[in-house]
Amino acid sequence: MAKKNIPYDQKYYDPEIECMPRPQLEEMQLQRLKEMVRYAYDNTVYYKRTFDEAGVSPDDIQTLEDIQKFPFIDKKTERDTQHVGSFFGEMCSVPEEEVVFMATSSGSTGVPTVSPFTQEDFDLWQDTEARLFWQAGMRPNDRYVHGLNFALYVGGPDVIGAQRLGALAIWVGAVPSDRLLFVLKQYQPTVIWTSPSYAWTLGEKAKEKGYDPKTDFSIHTIIVAGEPGGSIKSTREAIEDLWGAKVVDFFGLSDIYGACAAMCEAKDGLHIVEDQILVETVDPATGEVLEPGQLGELVYTTLTKKARPMIRFRTGDIGYVTNDPCECGRTLARIHITGRKDEMFIVGAVNVFPTDIEYVVRAEKGLTGEYSIRVYDQDFTTKYEVSVERAQGSAEPYDEVARRVEGALKTHTGVRPSKVIVYDAGKLGTSSEHKASRFVDERKNNG
Ligand SMILES: [Zn+2]
Repeated sequence: MAKKNIPYDQKYYDPEIECMPRPQLEEMQLQRLKEMVRYAYDNTVYYKRTFDEAGVSPDDIQTLEDIQKFPFIDKKTERDTQHVGSFFGEMCSVPEEEVVFMATSSGSTGVPTVSPFTQEDFDLWQDTEARLFWQAGMRPNDRYVHGLNFALYVGGPDVIGAQRLGALAIWVGAVPSDRLLFVLKQYQPTVIWTSPSYAWTLGEKAKEKGYDPKTDFSIHTIIVAGEPGGSIKSTREAIEDLWGAKVVDFFGLSDIYGACAAMCEAKDGLHIVEDQILVETVDPATGEVLEPGQLGELVYTTLTKKARPMIRFRTGDIGYVTNDPCECGRTLARIHITGRKDEMFIVGAVNVFPTDIEYVVRAEKGLTGEYSIRVYDQDFTTKYEVSVERAQGSAEPYDEVARRVEGALKTHTGVRPSKVIVYDAGKLGTSSEHKASRFVDERKNNG
């Protein structure tokens, strides 16, 4: 598909969709929802069976709220039905010949799940990605480095969205830092996409090699996804300070698309592509539907995806949705993700997310920003312990650093950690290539 001929100073890539008055947007969603639920019922073994069992029919969709009558699906549904009866299994709505691409989940919580796409799905996804890139400030004169993994990962093909917008797309992938720093120096790209932890690590590595990320490179925008860091203000600002570039948080998921939501310049949540996804928030324990603004589990229904419709997919992400007007002028609702359902822990009746702890570690002075969290049960209560690193060259006594961080954690989360352990810079061992693992869960009855 040829790139659109949009003036560089035009704010919106697709103003008709991005700024559609909400009543009109909801009317469009309703039409698409009716068609999608009918399509899913008529073409999918799984939906035919479960809708019949639940006593619901596509004719029951008369308003957007009617989706609440339909059963939920989740990762387990995908896992239990994939490869059953055919290669793509009972949730796939098209013959295998019509599937042109598949992505898989990382498999971090079990067997990887496979997500099929038709050519139409794939094209729509890349058009949407181009729109989100434009929203992030990318223009056709940008040189874009795609620093994400290409192997089975749904973030890989997002690079095509940059080409569609007209930018120069440099397909780098998940290469060692030395190679990536060479690309940044040699080709002077202006936009890069990595994970937030890796954006931080890469900036630090650049400094170790004698580069100043602000002046030796030309990066003006860093797109991040795959971890919550891009929506944690202190993390985002630390990366922005390090690079002298703005950080924009993106969101996608292998079960749906690599392009589901992106931050705008207001940096208050991520606009979700409501022309293609209907979003609900539900109580994570009971499934009861919650109002906009209330914290709960985010649930998505695809409105356009043909290879595998997802009707009421429970994501395991905890957050809230706002659909009041955004200062950027877009009318699309915004999602605000607080953390993963399975990483939330309750200490003294207070809900704590790893993102709360990251906020403190990145905001406190005198630390490297690296951390790890251990959650465990002791004497029938849940406790948490945090390890941090003292900044390079810091002479502050370890016990003073620990006391300071403990106090800040108590203030921000409402509960004091059982212990803060302080390491010297670089000794914690969490700094890794691309995706960091910082959360150790030793609770006995979780999941
Ligand atoms: Zn906005």
